[in-house]
Amino acid sequence: MLENKLNRNFLKESEIFHPLAFIEGIHNDLLDIRIERKEQTHSIKREDIYLTAGSTHFKVLLPLKCGDNSFILHCGKHEIPFNLKYTASVNKKFVRLVYIKCKDDDGQFQAPSEENNSVSSACSRISLGAQLLQTFTAEKMKEQGFPAKTFHLEEDENNKPICYVFTSSLTVLEAQQLKGEALWSHFAKELMNSSLRNDNCKFLAFLSFTRYQNSNGIIPSNHSEVLDLVKGHVALGASGLALLGTGCLHTWAQNLEELKWRFNDNRKINKKELMDDSGLRGTHWACYSTGLGATLHELGHTFDLGHSTYGIMGRGFDDIYKFFTVQDKCCQPNVQDDMKVISKTSCTEVHNQVPLIKNLCWETVTPPDSNTVAGFHGVSKSDYRDLVSLSTSSAICQWSQEIFWSRSCAVLLNFHKWFNLFNPKDPTLLPNISSNKATSAHGIRLVEFRDKDSNYLHHWEFLRGDGLRELPLHLSDMSSWLPENTSMLKIIIADSYGNILKRDVSLKNLDV
Ligand SMILES: [Zn+2]
Repeated sequence: MLENKLNRNFLKESEIFHPLAFIEGIHNDLLDIRIERKEQTHSIKREDIYLTAGSTHFKVLLPLKCGDNSFILHCGKHEIPFNLKYTASVNKKFVRLVYIKCKDDDGQFQAPSEENNSVSSACSRISLGAQLLQTFTAEKMKEQGFPAKTFHLEEDENNKPICYVFTSSLTVLEAQQLKGEALWSHFAKELMNSSLRNDNCKFLAFLSFTRYQNSNGIIPSNHSEVLDLVKGHVALGASGLALLGTGCLHTWAQNLEELKWRFNDNRKINKKELMDDSGLRGTHWACYSTGLGATLHELGHTFDLGHSTYGIMGRGFDDIYKFFTVQDKCCQPNVQDDMKVISKTSCTEVHNQVPLIKNLCWETVTPPDSNTVAGFHGVSKSDYRDLVSLSTSSAICQWSQEIFWSRSCAVLLNFHKWFNLFNPKDPTLLPNISSNKATSAHGIRLVEFRDKDSNYLHHWEFLRGDGLRELPLHLSDMSSWLPENTSMLKIIIADSYGNILKRDVSLKNLDV
């Protein structure tokens, strides 16, 4: 009975269009839980599966091969078989991963002596990181009610992302003299003039020559002082390139086997020798989380996203680890007989260990005496102790829901050319703004208003039917959210085909 329910649940969403599947679920803490491939012929090693479990929740990342992939979830006495079908994306628009080394250097990145800092290790860390972000994005699109769309990565025959090693014409000394935008401009030009150029790709590139040099050994007191001590560092995304330094790449996992301990690596960063870019948390795991989140944030800019107050395009990217981990002490939805309201004290204990966590607990996890337990209806209270519930959606874990694409970002991505099957015959006529109205021959889907610094102010979305052909733009419709003394707005309009207009509009030119 239980197995039938689980299988039926999986059949609904068994086809996946990115190669790293995410599954989460609730289990009873008395059960031993593990997962394995059904077919031995695949000969996938055990370390290729990531499983992390708290006392009640678990999360799994499963690498998929093209076609059917059969697994068995073992939980206590239960064996639950399920199947996931991976169909590779055929979107011609894709993200190309690049690791940049200088012409007079072997391309090793800065790392503690015990870490493998070779070029191939860098590529492994970058490839897995990109895949984690790809899976994260698909899951987060689902949470907002969209299909599980995500960006496409080039894959090798084992469905692992390809990371190109690019040798720059610069020496290390020349490259380390460039800062911020100058680094971005140089490598945008160099990549666009190289054999890696492809008009259908956006580059996600990492600089091997980032070096933190603290010769005085004085611990920096803030992040600005950290940045003063690092050369060849940048985190900048725009147009066709997201470019990042590698000062904390040594904290990234090289493979799925490492992922669990990397996200739990509580060691403090040695700030006398290594860059601390951890959102002021100072640990290896936090550097990994900030690094992954910042990478997605910068990639988001290449997908035309601006800054939002919360979420990935705000400073929420620091907390991307929450999607991949379980919060244990606050998760107690399986208390059967005396469902307790989780006390603030127990949460505070956890929060003290993991700084910057907002004051959010698990109180709203479905209590066991409800008719609904993790999405399975009609499970009686007596069945609950044996129940293990699974979902290919990330809706179960509220801890995960603290990290997200903000709404207008998700709407824009849903129609973006890099997130849909691109057809060269698709119309390319941009939406327009004239005479106090926005127009589009192909249906306006999103109108987003940003301030002069590209910070989100407000948006309107039109998801029904074919969208709007025409939309009046009157100041009176903006009065509730328009900041005082605003003289200029950036207006972004996306149509059904992902044609995106970005226009600076003076408020003087809009009617009341
Ligand atoms: Zn930004």
